[in-house]
Amino acid sequence: MVVLIDQALSSAPVARPRHPEKAGRPDTPRLPKPAWLRVRAPGSVAFAETMQIVAEQRLHTVCQEAGCPNIGECWEKRHATMMIMGAICTRACAFCNVATGLPKALDAAEPKRVADAVAQLGLDHVVITSVDRDDLADGGADHFAQTITAIRQAQPTATIEVLTPDFLRKDGALETVIAAQPDVFNHNLETVPGLYPRIRPGARYFHSLRLLQRAKELDPQIFTKSGIMVGLGETRDEILQELDDMRSANVDFLTIGQYMQPTLKHAEIKRYVDPAEFEDLKTIGKAKGFLLVAASPLTRSSYHAGDDFARLRAARRAATQAR
Ligand code: SF4
Repeated sequence: MVVLIDQALSSAPVARPRHPEKAGRPDTPRLPKPAWLRVRAPGSVAFAETMQIVAEQRLHTVCQEAGCPNIGECWEKRHATMMIMGAICTRACAFCNVATGLPKALDAAEPKRVADAVAQLGLDHVVITSVDRDDLADGGADHFAQTITAIRQAQPTATIEVLTPDFLRKDGALETVIAAQPDVFNHNLETVPGLYPRIRPGARYFHSLRLLQRAKELDPQIFTKSGIMVGLGETRDEILQELDDMRSANVDFLTIGQYMQPTLKHAEIKRYVDPAEFEDLKTIGKAKGFLLVAASPLTRSSYHAGDDFARLRAARRAATQAR
């Protein structure tokens, strides 16, 4: 059974509704979960230790805020994905469980606390993401850069992956993040362009695609990564076109996972995609030239990110030698 962790593990304030903009909407239908969709329930000693470190450092994680079904497995391995710049997002995507509203001022001490947590958790590979901060002049790019620098100082051997917002209308923001030299630049396209007005209304498909392309132009050695959810009503042809779009933008690593409906006020699940279809998409993605494709019902951007980064590096080495 899929465990959707919402209020129970969230560190966002509970006094306010998480999604005030969705409160007046009619409920969306809930599709029964297929029997094969199962996750490990949270509860191990390592899970509790991870939670303690996150709490002591007063950090937010996307694992908690997004209600990720993999938290039991990931936190048992101490793999927590830090979400910087608060737990309140300025966008209101129809798929996302992160609370919406007006965020607080940036916490200048947060980069150091994130770095300390990375060292305490002993992470070899860390994924840093954030809420959207449309309220900030640089979209939070400098805070990302400071966090990367702080992690490099605290845990010099760790490789760093950033999963950023789209920095729409934030000139120079991407350049700031890339100048801090993360190992992986990740920005999720999330869904097919035809569904953007319904699912990701605050974003623009071609802007996001161009962001990925530009990241590689700014640093040809950086690994670029993007992901989509399936089960939102997209067609197979739309998915295949999007994969071509990503390859045109030189994206190295593709992730594809099943969309899960956080609450009845969020977009409905149109269908559960069969595991065999994920395998099919993985094969197609590899054939289209991605260095690596992770595709399964429970695949998320940061799921198995450390192991996948090692595979990504190996795949680039092999491709370079084959030339
Ligand atoms: S898949 Fe990512 S977001 Fe989900 S629990 Fe694992 S690290 Fe956290």
